[in-house]
Amino acid sequence: MEERVAVIVLAAGQGLRAGTKKQWMALGDRPLLSFSLEIFENHPLIHALYLGVDKDHLEEGKACLEKWAPNKGKKAFAGGERRQDTVYNGLKELEEDTLLVGIHDAARPLASQDLISRVLKKAREKGAAVPAIPLRDTIKEVQWDTVKTTLDRTRLRAIQTPQFFRKEIIQQAYQLARQKGEEATDDASLVEAMGVEVYTVEGEEENFKITYPQDFKRLEDFMGWETRIGFGYDVHPLVPGRPLILGGVEIPHPVGLQGHSDADVLCHAVVDALLGAAGMGDIGELFPDSDPRHKNRPSLEFLEEAAQLIAHQGCQIVHVDATLVLEKPKIAPYKGKMVEEMAKALGISPRRINLKATTTEGLGFTGKGKGVAAYATATLKGRPL
Ligand code: MG
Repeated sequence: MEERVAVIVLAAGQGLRAGTKKQWMALGDRPLLSFSLEIFENHPLIHALYLGVDKDHLEEGKACLEKWAPNKGKKAFAGGERRQDTVYNGLKELEEDTLLVGIHDAARPLASQDLISRVLKKAREKGAAVPAIPLRDTIKEVQWDTVKTTLDRTRLRAIQTPQFFRKEIIQQAYQLARQKGEEATDDASLVEAMGVEVYTVEGEEENFKITYPQDFKRLEDFMGWETRIGFGYDVHPLVPGRPLILGGVEIPHPVGLQGHSDADVLCHAVVDALLGAAGMGDIGELFPDSDPRHKNRPSLEFLEEAAQLIAHQGCQIVHVDATLVLEKPKIAPYKGKMVEEMAKALGISPRRINLKATTTEGLGFTGKGKGVAAYATATLKGRPL
């Protein structure tokens, strides 16, 4: 008979050392914890997934489980005060026929499929197994500011998750810990306390735990995030009887820009720059002139939609730089507002948008006041295409 394997992903922590609830922090368009769910969803030997979240995040937890573990996700449950209280609650959710249980910290988003297979195999043979890695640094025991002793590094290991156990072993360990009021920072410690042997398998450097804010940067490096630049250019003619809208702001002027939408040339150039960086074609493909839905539409909405598409690709907008080319009017008084409107539409800080304006000294169509041109570059960060 197939041995059923369940995994409990722990995401109920307060994340105090990272400064915020790190498991909910976004990488691209997805929360950190989604990576752990996906890893186990994709592993062929895992049958069921449970997600422990703090009670204020039960709905989000449920949604995450549905999205990132559609086949194996069983239940999002409310965690407890301490890590071990959350595990305790999770163990109560397991189905009767579960044979092996994995416990994993959501803050370790890079555990490999091989690592899971290794730990699982050992636990299946021996009853309890954990991933371990040798220490890089020399470890000393200190008291206040004085070294008491230097420990033998060759005998020490740093222990990671996922840790796998036979269900009856881990359930018994948690029941005993509860009776005796024991505390532990990992699950194996409670099994050890019971006198059951815990086996180690080779862990992975990449399987580090996100603990401090700077760990997010390290995570991006491990995920091989790239920086990409896109370029955008647009022109619209100035005609009587149309409003002049630039960067989502209407500017008083006797003539305005002609076009199918509100003809906001600046927004159009920025959208093209963003789509360029994301490798997603151009504004004409996304919002065609032929589509009556886009008639007179505010172009800020194009920015909004482009930002959403980019986020769905797992990309983040780092910076936008744009130059408006027009003879009149002076846009300096409106620049701040334009940046603010575009930043709002893109869901980024206004500091990430730089806007410039120039004339062409009376030369060409812009110099003669026949039209407005806009150039933009956009920088994105994201997973490799
Ligand atoms: Mg245009």
